[in-house]
This record gives sequence, C-alpha cells and structure tokens, in this order.
Amino acid sequence: MFRTHNNGQLRLADAGKSVTLSGWVQIGRDFGGLTFVDLRDRYGITQIVFDQDDNAELADRARKLGREFVIQVKGIVRERTNKNPNRATGNIEIIASEMTILNKAKTPPFTIEDDTDGGDELRMQYRYLDLRRRPLQDNIIFRSKLALAVRAYLGRKDFVEVETPFLIKSTPEGARDFVVPSRLNEGQFYALPQSPQTFKQLLMVAGYDRYFQIVKCFRDEDLRADRQPEFTQIDCEMAFVEQEDVLNTFEGLTRHLFLEMKGINLPDFPRMQYDDAIRLYGSDKPDLRFGMELVELNDVAQNQGFKVFDAAELVVGIRVPGKAGLTRKQLDKLTDWVKRPQIGAKGLVYVKCNEDGTYKSSVDKFFDQEKLAAWAAATGAQSGDLMLVISGEDEKSRIQMGNLRLHVAGEFDMIPADTFKPLWVVDFPLLEWDEDSERFHAMHHPFTSPKKEEVERMLNGDHETMKALKADAYDLVINGAEIGGGSVRIYDRALQEKNFQLLGFTPEEAEEQFGFLMGAFEYGAPPHAGIAFGFDRLCAVMNGQASIRDFIAFPKNNQGRDVMIDAPARVDEEQLKELSLALNLQEK
Ligand code: ASP
Repeated sequence: MFRTHNNGQLRLADAGKSVTLSGWVQIGRDFGGLTFVDLRDRYGITQIVFDQDDNAELADRARKLGREFVIQVKGIVRERTNKNPNRATGNIEIIASEMTILNKAKTPPFTIEDDTDGGDELRMQYRYLDLRRRPLQDNIIFRSKLALAVRAYLGRKDFVEVETPFLIKSTPEGARDFVVPSRLNEGQFYALPQSPQTFKQLLMVAGYDRYFQIVKCFRDEDLRADRQPEFTQIDCEMAFVEQEDVLNTFEGLTRHLFLEMKGINLPDFPRMQYDDAIRLYGSDKPDLRFGMELVELNDVAQNQGFKVFDAAELVVGIRVPGKAGLTRKQLDKLTDWVKRPQIGAKGLVYVKCNEDGTYKSSVDKFFDQEKLAAWAAATGAQSGDLMLVISGEDEKSRIQMGNLRLHVAGEFDMIPADTFKPLWVVDFPLLEWDEDSERFHAMHHPFTSPKKEEVERMLNGDHETMKALKADAYDLVINGAEIGGGSVRIYDRALQEKNFQLLGFTPEEAEEQFGFLMGAFEYGAPPHAGIAFGFDRLCAVMNGQASIRDFIAFPKNNQGRDVMIDAPARVDEEQLKELSLALNLQEK
C-alpha cells in the first residue's frame, strides 16, 4: 500500500496514529538535528520530520532528498509545537521511521510553488510541472467540478447529452475551418466543427427536444490574445421554445452554477437591447460593474467654433468620477492610447472639473466656463471629476469611447473586486453589411431567425430593409465577457434559402453545403432555439481571472503551438503520399 492517507488529510485528532504517506518533496529544511520535509500531493502538504538522534542513517538520507523527488514515508502523527495556521494539516507533523525513494527527479526548471519563477514559455514547455502547482490544480479541478455540475443540472432538466462528430463538413461560424485530409477519399477533406450547430438542429428535427454537450470546437482564427484554436462549449438546443424560454433556462443554469460552485447569489439578469449596449457602452458586451456610460454631447458641444466637433457625426463623452487630479502626463498617455491604430481615435479632449467649481480643459480656447458647465450638466460630472470626449463617426466613436471606458476603469482600479454583473444583450441585427466586400455577413450565424414580425420584410424588403432587420439572437455577458450566445433558428426551408441568398450564396452553393439541413426542414422540423456557453471563459470569469489558458490543461501558445509536444509538426512523406497530398507543400 503506497499510502494510508493523503497529504491534506491528517488533523490533530489523528495524533498517535501510525501512517504511510506518499508524494513529492516540496522543500527540505535542515535544522541541525532535525530535517523537515514538506510532502505534497494534490490534496495538500504535510510536514515530515526526520530526527538525527532517533535514526541517524534515515536523517542522513532525508537530507539528500532533492526537490520533486517522489517518496513514501512511514511514521507517527504528532502535534506540532510550531503550528502553521495557514495549512489544513498545520497542527500536526509526521515523525518518520522509514522512507523510500519511489523516484528521483531532476531539479525542475522552475519552482513548483504558488508563485513560480518560471517564464511563460518555459512553463508551457514543462506544462506537466506547471500543472503540479496549486493554483493550476485548483483551476483544473474547478473546471472538472463545474462540468459535473452542468451535467447534473441539465440532466435534471431533461437535457440529453449527445456526441456529435468531429469529422464533418464546414459549418460557418465566421472563422476558418481546420481541415483533415481523407485517406480513403482521395483529394477530399473533412472540416473540424467550429460548433455542432447543424447537428444540434438536426437532433431537434429528430425529436430529442432538449440536447446538450460539453464539446470541443475548432476555429482557425488569427490568434488574438486569449483565444485558443480549440476550446470548449456547453452547447445546447431546445425544441418548441421561444427566446424567452432559452433565456430563462440558461439564466437558471448560470445562477445554479454560481451558487453551487462559489456560494454566490447572482443579481437579476437585466436585458439590454443591442442598440442600447452600443449607444451607452460602445460595446455589445458591456461591463456593468462600473458606471461611466457614454453621453452624447452634440447639443452642447457643436456649433461653438470648434471645427473638429462641428465636422463630427457624434461628440461623445464619459464622466470619470474623482479623476480631475490626473496629471498632464497621464492625460497625454490616455490620448496616445486612443490614437493607437487598434483604437483609431483622432484625439481626446479632456475637461477637469476642479474642486473650486472651475473647469480646465484641453479646448479652453473654444469653450468658456459656462459652456463647459453645460457639458458637466450633460454628463453629470461634479467637482473632482474628469470628462473625456471623443468625436467622429457615430458608431466608430462609440466603440472607441467604449474601449477607453474599459481602459480607464482598469488603469485606475475603478472596477470593484468580487462583483458579478450578468446581463442579456438581445435584439442583435440579423445581418451586418461589410462595406469592403460589399456583402452581408450573418451577425450570429446563417441559421438565426429574424424576429417573427420581420419575416415578411425579410422575404420582400429592399437592401436598406435588410440592414435594419433584427434577429432573435442573444448573448449572455458577465463582467464585460461574452459567456454565451445563441438564437432562435430558422426552421423553414424557404426562409433559410432566402437567408443564404442574402449572404451571397448561389442556390447551388447553398444546396451543396447545407442541402442536408434544408432537406431536414421539409420533414417536420419543430420550432427550435439554442445557445452555447464558452466553457473555458465561464471558468475564468467565475474565478475572476482574465486568461482562459489557465483553465485548459494543455493549451496552445499565442502562435497556436503546443510547445510541449512541439505541434504542429511535419509528417512523413509516406503519410503525405497516402493522403494524396502534394509533397512540395512541406518545403515552404
Ligand atoms: N453555435 C453557436 C456558436 O458557437 C451558438 C448557438 O447559436 O447555439 O456561437
């Protein structure tokens, strides 16, 4: 038997017991006659003592143990004189009588402790050592428990877990597909699913009524920060439901998960229209943990001789509470920040609302005290506050200001810790017009239904009508992170054909790619709707962490590489030949 207890288990009540423990050597400390070893496993750390006077040979061997050696120790539990209140086992220690080295370890390339000295790349390369650290173990175990809680909850609500295939044909969720060559079908390729979208709809046609799956999805996107080419969704679909039913069901799931996993009772989930989210927060995933809503200032700022504002479609401002004291340098930095190409604003106007009731602005030449007071009245700024103003095209400026709002809140620590602000963003546009390619894209995906009252207009309307169509599409947002999104689906062949046509598919292309789905709609498809949660993101947000990477056991780095196994990699010429792939492809 390797162990009678684990390393997080023994308490004062166990004093006097003879026990066997196994684990990794975290650290050894040598105090003359006594050698202490912290023995670690997934469950905790237990202190082991080797006494020179008791057993000199054993103490000698203990002194030679290296970090991360795997050992087994037999001994007696005793009360510690020097207790450690920060550790569950901190009241006891084991006085060792035997010790076996189960395996030696090379000195690890970084310390296996809560705070480590290893850099990112090194820790990715030795992911199995990084995963040994407490913070990562906590994350991965949290993820496992969360998955179990999801299954239990949805199971109780009659959802059926169905596995859908990974080797499929392209599903358009807006990213590129990963493709897999087929050996048996020369020159043909599978695509890995960007989501199980079409399959879950087919399961509704098949009468399963409520489906879920905790499932890998694959999207070959240019890697943006904190995106992974493969990620996990809680993917769901329901038949005979309207938007309201889906929102209620998944609000229920979210509440349950927060309560069960974190003991947190979430506040109500307000509903916000997409248009309002853009108008007030310059974002379709507003962070409601702090104020600073966007305020339109056209009325008070235009036609006063400042050409930049006069030429703009929109002048938009925010009130930054209590930040009138920012230095010139800090304000310049903010200006530089909004002018970066990623944000793209032309400039930034500031107004400080001084404690004495006067105003100091970067546009004092054009706006006197009275005029600036009107801005303050519009934004609600009080003395001590700062106003920041951007101008330009309507939607662009709002998005720029929305970004600045987040940046300022983060930069100046204005986001309250340990708060969760969920909301549903609803009434997304159905289609998005892309000026460059002069075509429509599906805002959510091509299977999303327009609102019922819009169907007629969609079937018969002109181009401008199409731009204004609203969909029964919704996102769940928590703390400015998109947790999930879904929609009510089209379940009628003619409407689906129309949607493909608007998206620029010829009837032949639509038939070739999605004939199977439209065909299924002709065999008694029920009204249905669904949603998918980003499971990795949910884990991170529930734990107030920014990165999904730390909740994925073996993630890819920012270049989409797994540096531990060194993938992607070249394959044998033989393998390529079998797949009928041109050999010279590899040479580049
Ligand atoms: N398949 C969608 C997605 O991956 C979710 C849904 O519409 O249910 O975003």
